[in-house]
Amino acid sequence: MAEKFDSVVVGAGPAGIAAAFTMAKAGLSVLILERGEKPGAKNMFGGVIFRHHTEQIAPEFWKTAPVERHVVEYQYWFLTNDSHVLLSHRNQRFNKTFNAFTVHRAKFDPWFAKLAEDAGAVILNRTTVDDVIKENGKIIGVKTDRGDVLCDVVIAADGVNSMLSKHAGLRDELPPEAVVLAVKEVIALPRQRIEERFNLGPDEGIAAMLVGWGSGMHAGFMYTNRDTLSLGIGISLQDIDKSGERPHILFEQFKNHPSIAPLVRDGELKEYSAHLIPEGGYDYVSRIYTDGMLVVGDAAMLVNAINWEGTNLAITSGTLAGNTVIEAKKKGDFSSRTLVSYRQKLEESFVLKDLKKYKDVPKFFSSNQQFFTLYPEVANELAYMWHVVDDETKDAHLKEMKSTLFKRRSRLNLLKDAYHMWRLMS
Ligand SMILES: Cc1cc2nc3c(=O)[nH]c(=O)nc-3n(C[C@H](O)[C@H](O)[C@H](O)COP(=O)(O)OP(=O)(O)OC[C@H]3O[C@@H](n4cnc5c(N)ncnc54)[C@H](O)[C@@H]3O)c2cc1C
Repeated sequence: MAEKFDSVVVGAGPAGIAAAFTMAKAGLSVLILERGEKPGAKNMFGGVIFRHHTEQIAPEFWKTAPVERHVVEYQYWFLTNDSHVLLSHRNQRFNKTFNAFTVHRAKFDPWFAKLAEDAGAVILNRTTVDDVIKENGKIIGVKTDRGDVLCDVVIAADGVNSMLSKHAGLRDELPPEAVVLAVKEVIALPRQRIEERFNLGPDEGIAAMLVGWGSGMHAGFMYTNRDTLSLGIGISLQDIDKSGERPHILFEQFKNHPSIAPLVRDGELKEYSAHLIPEGGYDYVSRIYTDGMLVVGDAAMLVNAINWEGTNLAITSGTLAGNTVIEAKKKGDFSSRTLVSYRQKLEESFVLKDLKKYKDVPKFFSSNQQFFTLYPEVANELAYMWHVVDDETKDAHLKEMKSTLFKRRSRLNLLKDAYHMWRLMS
């Protein structure tokens, strides 16, 4: 461990691997330190990886990578406790130009990490980084449970809890309003049954987002894998504190919902896991550079909660950080004077542009919970009234629908909600 590297990357998730791959390919000496027994061993997500950004590291990766299914349909479920309204988009173009693939991180991450290894990076698993090493205020390496390692630039890719960012003085404890706790189950079902239940062809998949059951602000997700379903829910730490709702109870309610239970019936529980998601958006992006260190991916709080994107922001930030270190090496200057260009690159990319665009959305939803509670209820009520057949005229039904709507939310508030949504999204 006495050796000195051009860069030490802490964490072998998508952000760390993209950074390591970029630097190793350019001929820099790179060490990746991962606390898990292998990359992916400690990682969980929904979820899907996106073709576009993953291909920037591995062209046509789906031909060799352990992907489960490509997504052909996106579903948005609005639930009450005993009904649902479903909005969905299926498109054959997703069969021609793949957009996203469901994956299991325990399988995908080792495959992805091998790309960095093949490019020349060294991976040391079962190695936990405990702190940064500083000299004259500049970071010059890391302390691990196996000893110290020196380098020109440390890349902190250590995920949402990023101890490294805290030790480097780049951020404080995670703010509860900006972090969601997610719990997830992987449920095994025969491949054919998944295809029948979700009306899918071989290798086709769905990605679903669900809101509205229970009483507070939380969301569920459901993804089809080859012969398993990934099912989970997320709730912010602040809401857990305020409402007293417990994620595992919410999850049971979700799984036993009359619209969801038939989809998972007779499935065998394979895995149960929990993880945090940094969903605060632009205002919570931490300081991401200092003398001798850059922060990437979840460690920098780079998640787009509106579009449910994280891995693509992780890969892009890792790549941009890697390019910045390559420039710094050419200049022979690893101080913030050079490393600041990482922040500039991120500002110019979709990563910070998207987060900036939606910067007020998390706060807006948090103080306007009717979008997660009242509106799903009203949508279900109106859908019911529209479909029910009795002796009343259609005119009477429409009047009842209008009166139900305005009883639940005044015209003024409906207009205000529509206006705010329009402003936030346009
Ligand atoms: C429930 C859930 C659903 C999600 N769904 C999606 C989705 O569908 N699509 C999507 O794009 N994104 C999704 N995300 C977000 C996505 O998972 C993250 O944005 C992405 O994994 C971030 O990558 P990363 O490399 O920054 O961090 P991570 O993937 O968290 O990797 C961090 C790595 O650092 C290692 N590590 C941590 N500390 C240390 C240490 N001290 N020493 C050594 N190693 C360390 C960890 O073991 C881990 O391997 C979801 C997240 C969750 C939790």
